[in-house]
Amino acid sequence: MAKDDKVDVLAVGAHRDDVEITCGGTVHKLVQKGYKVAILDLTMGEMGSRGSAGLREEEADCAAKILGVNSRFNLGLPDAFIENKRENRMKAVKILRQLKPELLILPYPEQRHPDHRKTPQLMYDACHLSGLSKVETGDLEPHRPSRIIYSTSFLQFKPSIIIDITEQMDIKLKAVACYDSQFKPDPDKPVVYPPAFDINEFILTDARYHGFRIEKKYGEPFFVKETMMIDDPVNLSVRSI
Ligand SMILES: [Zn+2]
Repeated sequence: MAKDDKVDVLAVGAHRDDVEITCGGTVHKLVQKGYKVAILDLTMGEMGSRGSAGLREEEADCAAKILGVNSRFNLGLPDAFIENKRENRMKAVKILRQLKPELLILPYPEQRHPDHRKTPQLMYDACHLSGLSKVETGDLEPHRPSRIIYSTSFLQFKPSIIIDITEQMDIKLKAVACYDSQFKPDPDKPVVYPPAFDINEFILTDARYHGFRIEKKYGEPFFVKETMMIDDPVNLSVRSI
């Protein structure tokens, strides 16, 4: 995949499949709108109970093609042990300066998995550093993304915004279906999820719940730190009662 194209949007996950599961519908919607979108996975997934880093790379490439993203990168940080330290921040700075995204999609910082918590902290700090002209990265110019939204899918958290992904749900499920190593039932492999776990049901239920809240079939929820501006409160996009 292209390694030096400027993109409009960078969606970041700790592990291959995080972006697809939490915000794959939004990623595809942005592609459909004509934006150039890239995915950055911070680890290769070598600590997963199922599959291998090599297999998960093939699955990630499959999913990227289905979502239609411009490119997909991997920072190669140690799976399950992501640290927000200088060396890792600088790896992220180089990617930010290479791709020059305006919008970042990050995982919400309060989560059970340490990698999911560390990923947004690391990337937020890298965004700041990436804008500093005295932080040296050779030929790569300083660049700071101007907007960040945090995916809150599957978290018990009231989102700031919900994006309608009704039209994108089929593609989202197809992208997630690339990850056979993680989700395909197999009695010979270690049990990662409870026997009754069905990834499609999990995704559809969460998206249906959030879609219901905006009077659409399916939605993906996000948190935005900043206060939103509107011009016309008579035409708020949601009903109050
Ligand atoms: Zn993950």
